[in-house]
Amino acid sequence: MSDCIFCKILKGEIPSKIIYQDDYCFAINDINPKAKKHILVIPKEHIESLNEVKDFSLISKMFEAIKKINSQENITHFRTQINTGSQAGQEVMHLHIHILAN
Ligand code: 5GP
Ligand code: ZN
Repeated sequence: MSDCIFCKILKGEIPSKIIYQDDYCFAINDINPKAKKHILVIPKEHIESLNEVKDFSLISKMFEAIKKINSQENITHFRTQINTGSQAGQEVMHLHIHILAN
């Protein structure tokens, strides 16, 4: 999607270090971290939120990626969070899973 921040980051139109990627998703450090380590795991396909997911094998792939990212980043204790909808705090309307570790 052309005016989506995360799609622009994936295309290299907004600079952000991609710390992990595979066929399904990529990960970046959150620009405004709310924990010592705050990583966003983002599907490469533009899907607005969890409410728009049709094939839930994607979510499984994203959690598989989280395990790999955590191993890469030496994270063992962490929380995951998915904000869905503006009233629940979703600011970027492209599905993402937060990894939060202190
Ligand atoms: P949400 O509130 O939608 O669940 O989370 C969006 C997250 O994206 C926020 O934690 C915010 O700090 C982060 N964010 C927004 N814009 C950018 C950006 O341009 N680069 C990075 N790395 N993170 C961003
Ligand atoms: Zn997008």
